[in-house]
Amino acid sequence: MPPTPTTDLRPAGLDPDLLLRVEDLRVQVGTDDGVIRPVDGVSFEMAAGKTLCIVGESGSGKSMTGRALMNLLPERMHIAGGSIAYRTGAGPVVDIAALPPRGPAIRAIRGAEIALVSQEPMAALSPVHTIGQQLDAVIRQHMGLGRKARRERALECLADVGIPKPAERLDSYPFEFSGGMRQRVCIALALSCGPRLIIADEPTTALDVTTQANILDLFKKLQAEHGLSILFITHDLGVVADVADQVAVMYLGRVVERGSVDQLFYEPQHPYTRALLQSVPTLSRQRVHRLAAIRGMVPSAFDRPPGCPFHPRCDQAVAGLCDRQDPPETALGPGRGARCVLLEDAAGPQLQPRSVQHA
Ligand code: SF4
Repeated sequence: MPPTPTTDLRPAGLDPDLLLRVEDLRVQVGTDDGVIRPVDGVSFEMAAGKTLCIVGESGSGKSMTGRALMNLLPERMHIAGGSIAYRTGAGPVVDIAALPPRGPAIRAIRGAEIALVSQEPMAALSPVHTIGQQLDAVIRQHMGLGRKARRERALECLADVGIPKPAERLDSYPFEFSGGMRQRVCIALALSCGPRLIIADEPTTALDVTTQANILDLFKKLQAEHGLSILFITHDLGVVADVADQVAVMYLGRVVERGSVDQLFYEPQHPYTRALLQSVPTLSRQRVHRLAAIRGMVPSAFDRPPGCPFHPRCDQAVAGLCDRQDPPETALGPGRGARCVLLEDAAGPQLQPRSVQHA
């Protein structure tokens, strides 16, 4: 079994109620056309035992941010700067960003401390091994139990995620399960070594609405029973409203607004957050208004606009300012902040943009 990391990098830098703090995280990839940064200065905190949702359109960098927390990035990508202070189960705080991505310390964290549930269960599961074999391999790697104890642990995990008659299903292959049941198996695999943090990357996107609701309820049940912290990556604000305690809104590799779920839904401060909310159908809105789509698309990381990266799509952009100045985060309270020039002189929680000249 890989050794448990013992490096206590910044014991005083992580409040006791925090599991994780990400600061100025940058992920870089070299391409034939130059270097791009799909994650470009991301900062946020996660409280222990709570759910943080990272939300944004495709191309916002939310999945890469999730993978960076496990230092598990696609080939040619690497963490180019920033820190990920994580409090391990044994107590010490480690900087995951500083650990070698193939070293024993990060391998001790992956799976055993931080586990990933991805969008597509069929891609995550081996089609040629039974569910029992796949659970056994993960448990053997991280827990070092004997054969009988590993089988008992596998059965316990399958029962935990609501697989009926788990002893009979251990010998089944993934194709013998429905989509929802396959996702439950993936969650059982993630749970099998008793992680403290689960990164769930669009885990319900491929499922029908009813199955999606069941899986979201399962995450809530498991969180209550095991005290899990969950980082939920989604583009779906309905999912955010259902599961989040805290929310970080990402755009083009940055967190542009963060706060509690109530603050994000009832007091959104960033024009991008407001635009996302206005693009969500509600029963009342459908009857009266057309949905407001956000014009344009998230630009490629190769074509990052100068100034505020949202300015080409922002209805409140100020000519001569937003296309030149990349706003830093304005602190709006504990765990609350947003990056917009309109918030520079924020004086209260209900700040509204001043009258502006459109770019
Ligand atoms: Fe819009 Fe300017 Fe604020 Fe960016 S800084 S979100 S362009 S108003």
